[in-house]
Amino acid sequence: MVTKAGVAACSARCGDPTAGVTTADLIPLQLQTGLCVPSNVILDTVTYAGIVNAACHGTGWAEGTVSDYVTAMTIVDADGAARVWAEDTCDADTWAAVQCNLGTWGVIYDITLRLRAMANVEVANHFRPQGDYFAAPADDGVTREKKLARLRHVVEGSTGTELFWMPFNRYYHTLAAGGRWTPAADDLWLRVFNDTAEPVTHGAPAVRAALTAMQAWQMRLSDWIHRTILSVHPLLVPAFYSAGFHTIKLFPQRMVERVPHAIHYQAHIDAFKVVSFEVAVPLTDAASWAAFSAMWSSVTTRVAAEHAAGRCPLTLAMEARFVRSSGALLAPSYAPAAVRDDTHHVYVEILSAAGAPGWAAFRDAVAAEWLAVPGARVHWSKQFPAAAAAGVAAAHGAALDRFKAARQAAGVDAPNMFQSATVNPEVRHECELEATG
Ligand SMILES: Cc1cc2nc3c(=O)[nH]c(=O)nc-3n(C[C@H](O)[C@H](O)[C@H](O)COP(=O)(O)OP(=O)(O)OC[C@H]3O[C@@H](n4cnc5c(N)ncnc54)[C@H](O)[C@@H]3O)c2cc1C
Repeated sequence: MVTKAGVAACSARCGDPTAGVTTADLIPLQLQTGLCVPSNVILDTVTYAGIVNAACHGTGWAEGTVSDYVTAMTIVDADGAARVWAEDTCDADTWAAVQCNLGTWGVIYDITLRLRAMANVEVANHFRPQGDYFAAPADDGVTREKKLARLRHVVEGSTGTELFWMPFNRYYHTLAAGGRWTPAADDLWLRVFNDTAEPVTHGAPAVRAALTAMQAWQMRLSDWIHRTILSVHPLLVPAFYSAGFHTIKLFPQRMVERVPHAIHYQAHIDAFKVVSFEVAVPLTDAASWAAFSAMWSSVTTRVAAEHAAGRCPLTLAMEARFVRSSGALLAPSYAPAAVRDDTHHVYVEILSAAGAPGWAAFRDAVAAEWLAVPGARVHWSKQFPAAAAAGVAAAHGAALDRFKAARQAAGVDAPNMFQSATVNPEVRHECELEATG
């Protein structure tokens, strides 16, 4: 059953303004009704206006971005008029532009989301050698294909998959066994979830509170260790992850959960200050999967080379999440309607603790490689190198032109008040000239 529910319905905390509803605010309504936002960001502290505006995403092989669940928005334009934009009443391009508008249509006042009745989900953590799924430099063609097939089998056969690599997580184990550490020896954490008719195993309030309390400690401690020890002595990163990574295994490794709990699974995530860079790349055929695999392997190889040179610029993780393509013109995972059902995207991200020495140079080198992959687009919500800015707009090609045309036709911002470096770079340029006299 498909139904609609206004975000306003659960906006008790905020009174009438509904744009300020956070992902946490909407959880009780979802638990109560069994109707869910099918895929969403992990954070429970961000606002729906903030995440819809930038087409933020979660993971789900058949799911789009959060913007894809929006059915209407009231936006206050540059003239101060509250204008209602709705999927049912707009032409296709206007709606596809409104869905993710980077703030350039005005100030969002309220959002209506299409929620869906959903089964419970089984969430299982698997820890396997990374070398089982991603090629090492010495692998031949047949081995590479086998590894990729193994990965595709998991991703394409599950409701949702998240991959994490925390570097050096088996560093000392490998050394203690008399081996030499390579990224392939590290564990890959596969967080796999599947719809299930099984009853919830971890839904009791006391259990949720215990999990949340454990995570609060985990996040605060990680932030403190990174800030005070690892940012000063980065070569201790292998020691930290050789032990710290395995604390993840203290949490239950198989849970049947309600959908919002499975999605917003990491509480207090914002207690740990991080920097990150993320791109979406299309997954359409064997070549695009191979390109994704090469993106991943190039980072693991780079981290090993950095370590050999006495540096550890990647102090947290590399992560991948898989989605169906989006209908929002400016979503990084946008695909035109004609091919949307056959086009998926992977969002790949590198993250370090804020202040990690060497991060900027490392990030820029990775960005140069990743953005050269066909169809790669940066995720608006993450930091990207200034040098990539021109390419960021170009990567949206005709979709950006259609977005601009729809915005112009809608007449929401004649004075060009709502600025974005991508949508109206000329305005930004004039401002900079004014600022510098
Ligand atoms: C630890 C961490 C984890 C994250 N995880 C994910 C993830 O899993 N997936 C993902 O996609 N992203 C993720 N993000 C990115 C995050 O979802 C985005 O940065 C999001 O935009 C933050 O929302 P916010 O409510 O804090 O918005 P803000 O940061 O306050 O605003 C975001 C943008 O929206 C604009 N805006 C806000 N409100 C309005 C309004 N009412 N009208 C018009 N414009 C408005 C702001 O001007 C700004 O440009 C993560 C970020 C962090 C720090």
